[in-house]
Amino acid sequence: MRGSAKGDPTLELSEWREANAGRRPVWKTLDSVVKRALVRDLWSEQSGLCVYCGGRININLPIVNPERFAGKFAFHIEHFRPRHVPEYRDLIFEHSNLFLSCGGLYESGDEPSGEICGASKAGAFDEERCLEPELDVCSGRFSFHEDGEIFCREGDVQAEYMIKILNLNDENLKSYRRATWESVVDEMVQQPGRSYLEFSEGYSQVDEGGAAKSYVHMVKSLLAIPDPEVLT
Ligand SMILES: [Zn+2]
Repeated sequence: MRGSAKGDPTLELSEWREANAGRRPVWKTLDSVVKRALVRDLWSEQSGLCVYCGGRININLPIVNPERFAGKFAFHIEHFRPRHVPEYRDLIFEHSNLFLSCGGLYESGDEPSGEICGASKAGAFDEERCLEPELDVCSGRFSFHEDGEIFCREGDVQAEYMIKILNLNDENLKSYRRATWESVVDEMVQQPGRSYLEFSEGYSQVDEGGAAKSYVHMVKSLLAIPDPEVLT
């Protein structure tokens, strides 16, 4: 689970909320222009990555095959505390509760093998066991095997719960993470003079549009624990 570094609330959303103050909060009433502005800001906060799996989100993904992908979206606005749960109704338009999660498609257009991230979590939420999706909170709570599996320390009930409800060990998701790590290892083999730290910093660079690379949290985590067998 990657998490997000939240910034200021979207200006357009704050203005819209002010103009609609006193009304019952209903998500579907949100103006589409305001929603687009919100997506823009959430995308920037998350450097273009899904708040949960850390895969790249393309907010302009063309659905090239509408029949195959009917009902599937590349991303959605995720309510961490579900909007259908009455006790969280007041958080429906709260910036701190809003994130971008991948939907039923990867940036490549491939589908995950099962529901993942926000689609998997859906209405599941246990206040006692959840882990806040904050970048600082999440880093250090999750580790990865080189085959792409995500895991946590034994007894870390919160991290275990999040891996389960987000389906972060989905087979396709694991294979994408494995392929990402293998490509990093290939690069390290070709450039033996560079240190792990240099590769980690290089992989952490965002592109000119502000997008980070998919699964950067995994690559940083794996590079933080030098394994002498990696390059053999
Ligand atoms: Zn995701």
